Parts: sequence; C-alpha cells; structure tokens
Amino acid sequence: MSHGIHRIAIPTPFAVGRVNVYLIEDDPLTLVDAGPNSGTSFDELTKGVRELGHSLEDIELVVLTHQHIDHLGLVALVAERSGADVAAIDVAVPFVENYSEEAAKDDAFARGVMLRNGIPEDVVGALSAVSQAFRAWGARADVTRVLRDGEALELRDRTLHVHHRPGHSPTDTIFHDRERRLLLSADHLLGHISSNPLITRPTDGSEERPQALVTYLRSLEQTREMDVDLVLPGHGDPIHDHRTLIDERFALHRRRAEKIHRLIGEQPRSAYEIAQALWGNIAVTQAYLTLSEVLGHVDLLLNDGRAREVERDGVAVFEAA
Ligand SMILES: [Zn+2]
Repeated sequence: MSHGIHRIAIPTPFAVGRVNVYLIEDDPLTLVDAGPNSGTSFDELTKGVRELGHSLEDIELVVLTHQHIDHLGLVALVAERSGADVAAIDVAVPFVENYSEEAAKDDAFARGVMLRNGIPEDVVGALSAVSQAFRAWGARADVTRVLRDGEALELRDRTLHVHHRPGHSPTDTIFHDRERRLLLSADHLLGHISSNPLITRPTDGSEERPQALVTYLRSLEQTREMDVDLVLPGHGDPIHDHRTLIDERFALHRRRAEKIHRLIGEQPRSAYEIAQALWGNIAVTQAYLTLSEVLGHVDLLLNDGRAREVERDGVAVFEAA
C-alpha cells in the first residue's frame, strides 16, 4: 500500500464482511486491530503478515480502534504470541479487559432499549441468543499502553495523533498522521456504507439511552475539518475525498430524518413500527442495527423540537410536533 502501511483484510462472520487490519512497518512493528477470534481469521492474519515479510511473533505493538469484536477478538492471541504491547484509548480499557462481563451488560442494556421501543419479546429473545453465540468471536485482552484523546503516539518514523470520535461505538478512536496527511479512521468513516450509530451502554455508567447518531454527527464534523488526503477505514477500500463523503453522509441522515418526520406525521409510531415502515420485514440479526438507525434520527427530530415522545403501554411512541 502506501507509507509503509499495509492492509490485511480478515474474514468475519458478520454481514459487514471482511475487516481491515493494518500493518505499519515502523519501529515498533505495529498492527492496527487484529480481527475476530477464530481459527480462520487467525490463519489469514498470520499468512497476511508473513506475505509482507514479517512474522506474527515480530509484532511489537497492537493498537485497538474500538470495542467491536470483529476488530478486537484476536488482540490477546497476537499479544500472547508476540509479546506485543496493546494500546487502547482510556475509555475502552474496562471493556477490553473485562470483555465477557461488559458484553453481557451491553446485551442487557440493549434488551431494555429494544423492549422500550416496541420490539416484540420473541425477537428480543432471539437476538439475545444470536448475540451470545457471537460472543466467542471476541476475547478479553490486557491493555498495556493507555492512550488519551489528543495525545501523540510516537513511532520511529511517524507520529500518530490519537482522537476519540465516539458515535459508531463509545470508544471509536482514529489515528492521524499529519505529516503524511493520512488518517486511520476505523469504523468511524467507511467508504461503501454509512457507519451504524449503534446505541451502546454508556461508558460512564449512566443508564440513559445515549443519542448515538447525535454524538456520531458531532464526531464527523470534527473529522471533516481535518486536512487529510487518504483515509484508511476499518472495512472496504481507502477513501480519497473524505469531505465529499462526509457531506454525503450528512445529507443521507437529513433525508432519513425527514422521511421519519413524515411517517410520524401520519400517525404516532414506535421506533420498531418506523423501522418496519422504512424497511419492511427486518431480519432478526438486523433488528438492533435498524432500531439504532431509527432512534438516532428520531433524536435529531426530538432535539429540533419536531417530534415528541409519548408512551403507549410502556412503549415509547413518537409523534410529530
Ligand atoms: Zn465497529
């Protein structure tokens, strides 16, 4: 690839397809993310690193971009094989180090959000089962190097500025090489699909449903201001014009909010009913993603005073204001 950074695309069991892991040929030899915890993924990672003329045992630093298991699952195994340091932003550390417990708490939080927003109990139950089955694709890891928002991660030949950009997850971290005008964006900015603003249990222990899309759009504003020529994302191909892409994302989210405003103008609807009106019958595995999408846009309307939340039999229902 370019600037001593190489992409290794690792298979995942998820709808998103392969995940990009980046090998940075520098000192320390650095891996950005590691892929999900599976034999196939491990084999492909090992092979990918070897094809670049290194061995997995040579890796000295693994940098984690966020808490999702398609990026995190193999971190511990790579660190164990190589003795590499593991770096992650401070807000991600409790999740990474207590993965199973934290994932279980996330699932419980998600169940509450789903029931509150009208997803039928059988769907919620099925999705919990799916989530538990997927849990083995993640694994805990020890973080040996805690990163802070705004700090500089120094390698021999480059400096990576660390920025917390929550929204897709609460722990999204991007790495900016100012000198090379290059950004490792992870899932904060993807070229071929818009990043899901997944509603996730807040890292500060609060019980309230976070406004993930609102947070995400604020993060995206900050990234739009960055001067970069090349963005290397967590899935899919490199991005060359991040401002145009970000503007397209802003337009997409505005259009979707308008559509939802029309739907709740016709009649009050729960978020689940809105999702069905938008996308028809939704696969169980996509129920939480689509719910997060809908609630994100409902939040935009609520914050603008264009929607109101009322309650119907314990379910949140939204009406146009
Ligand atoms: Zn992700």
